[in-house]
Amino acid sequence: MDHIIDGVLRFQRDVYPNREALFQELSLAQTPTMMFIGCSDSRVVPELLTQQGPGELFVVRNAGNIVPPYSPQPGGVTASIEYAIAVLGIPDIVICGHSNCGAMTAIQKGAERLESLPAVARWLHYADVARDAVALEYPGASEKDYLDALVHENVLVQLDNMLTHPTVAKALEAKQLRVHGWVYDMSSGTVETYDANAHAFVPIGSAPFASATPGKTQLP
Ligand SMILES: [Zn+2]
Repeated sequence: MDHIIDGVLRFQRDVYPNREALFQELSLAQTPTMMFIGCSDSRVVPELLTQQGPGELFVVRNAGNIVPPYSPQPGGVTASIEYAIAVLGIPDIVICGHSNCGAMTAIQKGAERLESLPAVARWLHYADVARDAVALEYPGASEKDYLDALVHENVLVQLDNMLTHPTVAKALEAKQLRVHGWVYDMSSGTVETYDANAHAFVPIGSAPFASATPGKTQLP
């Protein structure tokens, strides 16, 4: 843990003073322009991946970048989405999956991997639809291809789940929100985005404004 404490001290000594004006401004308010829903995996670093700084991304991370369907029960993801849209007025939400995801691997391996992890097993049921869809679509796939397909399919399933949230549905209807589905490949640094019009994941550079919800997303 020493290196972590050293990092905090270094931040206070070297980083904060150099950007004090920014931090002072941010101490009063935040105006992030994107909500980033990603996996807790330590190798997925939203600010690094998008080259954004403090105050620019509103981030939720959990095992498997999951968005449970809307429920009146208390939930951290639900509350964060509601706040992002209704209070912060964030115009873009991305759900970002990633290559070699441990949560998706656990689903792939099934019961043997999850029997000692009851909480994880229950949480990952939110990805059951993705698991079943991939099993149906890629019956003979290699382990690697199956996992890759599951990572992509899970992003689409979580996008569908997000659309069940009333705040999201309302903002989409009012054309105040765009939602995006990304997959980050950490072995190459590439990011794919889901283009609903093409029904495919495409390189983000070739379709930077691709939307996961066709016909509902034309912001001014
Ligand atoms: Zn992951």
